[in-house]
Amino acid sequence: MLNNTKKSIITPKHTPIRMCVLCKNRFKQNILYRFRVENNELCADLKCGRSVYLCKACILKDNHKWQKALSRACKNTIKTSQQDLKERIFNGKG
Ligand SMILES: [Zn+2]
Repeated sequence: MLNNTKKSIITPKHTPIRMCVLCKNRFKQNILYRFRVENNELCADLKCGRSVYLCKACILKDNHKWQKALSRACKNTIKTSQQDLKERIFNGKG
């Protein structure tokens, strides 16, 4: 016998889920870092335009294919180095 309780879990707000372009894992949008691609660089400011999401782990984890992987994910040549991005985001930490 199934205990057929139809109580759905009520979430206070719908949290959008976004995919990290590098590891392809899905996360809640509010824990991802969002960037815009402009002039082959990743920009942190959030005007309209194509934006990509990266998870913290991907930003922190050394990835020797960073630019290549990012460029492919963004369909654009990304010149921003991982080190540069790390410093911009986690400036003064670690
Ligand atoms: Zn990731």
